[in-house]
Amino acid sequence: MTFTNFSFDQRIVAGIQACGYETPTPIQQRAIPKVLQGRDVLGLAQTGTGKTAAFALPILQRLLDAGNTKKAPSVLILAPTRELAMQIQENFASLGKQTGIRSSVVMGGVGMGPQIKAFWQSKIIVACPGRLVALISKGAVRLDDIDTLVLDEADSMLDMGFMPDIKRIIARLPKQRQNLLFSATMPTAIRKFADRILVDPETVQV
Ligand code: AMP
Repeated sequence: MTFTNFSFDQRIVAGIQACGYETPTPIQQRAIPKVLQGRDVLGLAQTGTGKTAAFALPILQRLLDAGNTKKAPSVLILAPTRELAMQIQENFASLGKQTGIRSSVVMGGVGMGPQIKAFWQSKIIVACPGRLVALISKGAVRLDDIDTLVLDEADSMLDMGFMPDIKRIIARLPKQRQNLLFSATMPTAIRKFADRILVDPETVQV
């Protein structure tokens, strides 16, 4: 299988080439078609498997398909650490460079002002749960147009005590949306949470 199997927009193909990706990894081969179809996905995969591009590429394609009209953010990715959030955003930025689709990071440890400004200029938000809850509580951001939610490293977010924040965030999202949940392990708490959040999910394991 090659990346041409997915019929990505030429601007995305350019991003894939610029990143030097030649062949889709196993998680990419299995997850990309499902995400393109709009399905909910439960992905069991470790970091290093190419799982970021497994959701980033089809999300970029769906944004291009949707025409990218509304200004407010429509994709929300939650990640446990600042490092991971920045890595995910960098991956979106490089793969999506030719698409003009903007993304930004919401995380603690840096000033809120520039983040809030960047939030309203982005289609894709990569956020650590704590800082996002703080911005919501201040009334500085709203999530009314989010139609795609990604929970990355869900098991780490559970271990780090982010579940209450994640539930608060999900309560603010439109009910009608696509949900992708990635986790390296599947403890009972994550299984139960996935059962509540995901609708008829396709399970992808590598
Ligand atoms: P991830 O598991 O998303 O953290 O990705 C691990 C590393 O693999 C990152 O440096 C990616 O840029 C890289 N990568 C992702 N997909 C591919 C691919 N299809 N071919 C080569 N490298 C890739």
